[in-house]
Amino acid sequence: MALDNKIPKGDLSIKWTEYKSKINLVNPANKRKLDVIVVGTGLAGASAAATLAELGYNVKAFCFQDSPRRAHSIAAQGGINAAKNYQGDGDSIYRLFYDTIKGGDYRAREANVYRLAEVSANIIDQCVAQGVPLAREYGGLLDNRSFGGAQVSRTFYAKGQTGQQLLLGAYSAMNRQIGRGKIKMYNRHEMLDLVVINGKARGIIARNLVTGEIERHSAHAVVLGTGGYGNIFYLSTNAMGSNVTAAWKAHKKGAYFANPCYTQIHPTCIPVSGDHQSKLTLMSESLRNDGRIWVPKKLEDVQAIREGRLKPTQIPEEDRDYYLERRYPAFGNLVPRDVASRAAKERCDAGYGVNATGEAVYLDFASAIQRYGKEQARIKHLDENDEKLVYELGKKVIEEKYGNLFQMYEKIVDENPYETPMMIYPAVHYTMGGLWVDYNLMTTIEGCYCIGEANFSDHGANRLGASALMQGLADGYFVLPYTIGDYLSKEIRTGAIPTDTPEFDEAEKNVKELINFFMNNKGTHSVDYFHKKLGKVMWNKVGMARNAKGLTEAMDEIKAIREEFWKDVKVPGTAESFNQELEKALRVADFLELGELFAKDALHRNESCGGHFREEYQTEDGEAKRDDENFAYVAAWEYTGNPREAILHKEELVFENIKLVQRSYK
Ligand SMILES: Cc1cc2nc3c(=O)[nH]c(=O)nc-3n(C[C@H](O)[C@H](O)[C@H](O)COP(=O)(O)OP(=O)(O)OC[C@H]3O[C@@H](n4cnc5c(N)ncnc54)[C@H](O)[C@@H]3O)c2cc1C
Repeated sequence: MALDNKIPKGDLSIKWTEYKSKINLVNPANKRKLDVIVVGTGLAGASAAATLAELGYNVKAFCFQDSPRRAHSIAAQGGINAAKNYQGDGDSIYRLFYDTIKGGDYRAREANVYRLAEVSANIIDQCVAQGVPLAREYGGLLDNRSFGGAQVSRTFYAKGQTGQQLLLGAYSAMNRQIGRGKIKMYNRHEMLDLVVINGKARGIIARNLVTGEIERHSAHAVVLGTGGYGNIFYLSTNAMGSNVTAAWKAHKKGAYFANPCYTQIHPTCIPVSGDHQSKLTLMSESLRNDGRIWVPKKLEDVQAIREGRLKPTQIPEEDRDYYLERRYPAFGNLVPRDVASRAAKERCDAGYGVNATGEAVYLDFASAIQRYGKEQARIKHLDENDEKLVYELGKKVIEEKYGNLFQMYEKIVDENPYETPMMIYPAVHYTMGGLWVDYNLMTTIEGCYCIGEANFSDHGANRLGASALMQGLADGYFVLPYTIGDYLSKEIRTGAIPTDTPEFDEAEKNVKELINFFMNNKGTHSVDYFHKKLGKVMWNKVGMARNAKGLTEAMDEIKAIREEFWKDVKVPGTAESFNQELEKALRVADFLELGELFAKDALHRNESCGGHFREEYQTEDGEAKRDDENFAYVAAWEYTGNPREAILHKEELVFENIKLVQRSYK
């Protein structure tokens, strides 16, 4: 099938406005006749479900958690971007568009990203109207901070709990519709297959995770807002439940999977501490506003630190290497995440890592405490030379800004980050790849839409901080509600979709057979055993740095793990009860297929761009080297029954409003 991105013609700055003014609408009486399934209640799904129900559609919403408000979006800490220019520091829709395209290493669509920047301001207004307590300055105006890859302050935040507060806003909007009967909420339900009838998405098969019952649900359109697949690496900052199953099942039914290898590695996470860990913890990017990243200049200091003979606070300024400030003076500690991550890896690979495993660098707030302390002393007409006083005043400012993050760090690491620098190391954080969608957010299956992290859309090869929340909410509140209407306007005469059709029979049968297989396979290893094995291959050979040899080996190794999994996995318990081992088995089975496609995608892309770093393609000073001539396209893969045999479809990216240059943050 040829890819048609359906980008409307016309000037970039009015494209969306003109398009949405002209597309087909469904009148209010007809909306009541139309059902929409929304799978996922994170920021993307919840905002979509609430808005579609508000518009009058009958919505069925699904999530595997016990409540929509426990979706992974709740974990987002740092903030959400919007081109409001409240700081008067030169921000604009164009600048946000420009930064996002450049940040994504010119691997995203201009039209989508411009639309994203355009609606970003509406998101903030919408959330404030809902009562989301975004941080405010003393005078009452909304406050902003800076995130990597930007030279303006455009990130709105709610302390270190931005995702939680935004999700509470979207959840409240959903709850209003649940109360009105316009949303029927299915908590603790997991979608296990998509039902396609005559080429159109018409429903899903879901498992009630409490009773084990397999259910059929039909609708005129299906929206997947099912989040990212970073957990393919086993260790990641994602919620433990985040998985690819819904998207992968749609892929198997005909939805193309785009850019699977684009992964964001976040530079500021608490380092891995051992083999028994199942989760990594993010220290928000917002910390890079004030924290300075460094390692010792001398290897003997590194050795002394590792052996406990020296404390980082004892190392004098001149013996510290603030390597981001040194290498990237223009952006300093606020370079994009891929750049900061690779720079940390480079220092640690060279032997300068400061923890026992040699995989940690410092994030230090001592300068910020001093700077804020002196400023406060001056404001309060106190003695700015009183060291103790300055420290206390500065510490208070830092506490107000990042208190909960510091507390979290101390609880996990048992060290006080006000007194000793934090230790951080990059970890898998976000997946820019996902189901391919056109400008309307529709996948290659008619009537099957995909929003939020689950789609591939707006971030190119590298997501900048604070842009995922923006995209999820843009999709759910402001884009999908228009574009789905265009499709549904052709469905007003269809009538209710029956579930007693051969397609539903077939899909339900397949799900039941799969579950029976797991319950009856008398293997010897737990699901986690295989997941961990997969994660190790992914991190070592498909992780922060990749090369052709490692990727080829990874494809074979993943295939071997998959074969072993099907022979030897053991799932205890029963299918007719709450069984988290069974849930995991169903998810890991899909990760084991995606993993091979992921490596294949990384292998075919003979260039480095953003979160995809191929060691063979780098500049002399170790920066990512793109090949725009041959790879300025979206790689959309078609399922053929075997991930290795997936067929590549290219969507060429056209840049008419932005000049492609090699990214530089120096
Ligand atoms: C620790 C952390 C901090 C972050 N901080 C920021 C930040 O400060 N700013 C920012 O912009 N981004 C941040 N991000 C990224 C951002 O949080 C996510 O990209 C975003 O929240 C994803 O939202 P979503 O709605 O697409 O998916 P999710 O929030 O992951 O929601 C997925 C939903 O789908 C449901 N689901 C999934 N599969 C199924 C299935 N098969 N059946 C039924 N339901 C299913 C789940 O139950 C859930 O409701 C952060 C990410 C992490 C890991």
